[in-house]
Amino acid sequence: MATNNSVADQDTHFFGDVCNNFDYAAKFTKHDAGLLDQIKSCNSVYRFRFPIRRGNDFEVIDAWRVEHSQHQSPTKGGIRYSEMVNEDEVMALAALMTYKCAIVNVPFGGAKGGIKINPKNYSLQELENITRRYTVELIRKNFIGPSIDVPAPDYGSGEREMSWIADTYATMNPGQLDAMGCVTGKPIALQGIAGRREATGRGVAIAIRECVSIAEDMNKLGLPTGISGKTIIVQGLGNVGYYSAKFLAEFGAIIVGLCEYEGAIYNPDGLDVEAVFQHRKATGSILDYPGSKQEFKHSAEGLEQPCDILVPAALENQITVANIRNIKAKIIAEAANGPTSPEAETIFYQNGGIIIPDMYVNAGGVTVSYFEWLKNLSHVAFGRINRRFEENTNLNLVNMVEGITGVALTPMQRSTIVRGASELELVNSGLEDTMIRSYHEIRETFKANPSIDTLRTAAFVGAINKIAVSYQNLGVWP
Ligand code: GLU
Repeated sequence: MATNNSVADQDTHFFGDVCNNFDYAAKFTKHDAGLLDQIKSCNSVYRFRFPIRRGNDFEVIDAWRVEHSQHQSPTKGGIRYSEMVNEDEVMALAALMTYKCAIVNVPFGGAKGGIKINPKNYSLQELENITRRYTVELIRKNFIGPSIDVPAPDYGSGEREMSWIADTYATMNPGQLDAMGCVTGKPIALQGIAGRREATGRGVAIAIRECVSIAEDMNKLGLPTGISGKTIIVQGLGNVGYYSAKFLAEFGAIIVGLCEYEGAIYNPDGLDVEAVFQHRKATGSILDYPGSKQEFKHSAEGLEQPCDILVPAALENQITVANIRNIKAKIIAEAANGPTSPEAETIFYQNGGIIIPDMYVNAGGVTVSYFEWLKNLSHVAFGRINRRFEENTNLNLVNMVEGITGVALTPMQRSTIVRGASELELVNSGLEDTMIRSYHEIRETFKANPSIDTLRTAAFVGAINKIAVSYQNLGVWP
């Protein structure tokens, strides 16, 4: 029997880093030490193993689900499929989910799952077996359910895995009306929601656009105001990186660099994100893309090229003391979870840059997951009941205004005004509103206290205060 167990040899500083950030920010709050300790710790850490058959052999899979905080229910967070996954990482990511949800006012506690495999090494059938068995293990310990803990996609997982989870849960809970709310990020056909797939990237792009729209802050950085013409390097062309780059380009930014495992490409005049994506799909590599002016065999070099904004959208610990001084960007927008080490962050701020922190920047995914969960519990798609009514109301209004003024609208103008909102439009507008409001909440905390030296600390302070109120409302703390 083979096992891919190697917990002991893993890095174990990520959760510690999150806790250090928490402790630092907690100094700017006035909460009881016990309450702070309760908020900070991981409430439940479930580590388990299960065997799967591979040909004539068996393999034992290591897996985790961590529920960091139940100050709100359900807990929420993705499941990472990666051979690098370890308990410390899952705990750190679960904790970040708690703070992330608080920052964007999504009423969930934080959780995260991990399955220690490289999905590329397994057949479709094996992946399905692993995912279904993982789900059964969660069910057995009450670690999944629409009101308990609701997984979602993360690095290495997507809609396909979520549908296996939903199906397994529904099969084992016959008659449970809300069963589909046990997981989000499902395909639309299985009661997923329009816009979830691109939500994290869209949220990243909105977060950056909002940040650079504030003249006062841009003046300090020596950058012009507005997203138009900003030069951006994106690390990672997975779901988050791809959609971040695509929407940033749509907003008018210039994607000058893209980095992946195999290397990086750069063109100061801009890269066509879709063309690069298709090139990589066809050739298996970002390199040799005809539209690039420079290529780097070492992906890390790509991060160090000239740009206004760097968007790490891959994994944690990509920007450290080893490379921070070479980074030319003035703004780092953390689309991945934990991409910047604490030491690197300090140096970056000392050198006059700012970092828009992960737990805010990548919160678009969980925000739209929240909408999906609401849709599953209400058993109706957003817009279904009111769309036609809105259209009729708008139509009456347009007819009346045309009648009074004698001015006839063009068919195009008419249909723009009259149209009722689709689910996708409602989701996108809810997401946009959430990202914009949350940015200003963080910024206001940052500005209100000159001793708060980073946006991350400001984001933590806001999150801690909100979570503390939840505990107080639960009557757990005075
Ligand atoms: N895995 C994503 C995250 O880290 C999404 C979580 C969710 O939608 O629950 O935010």
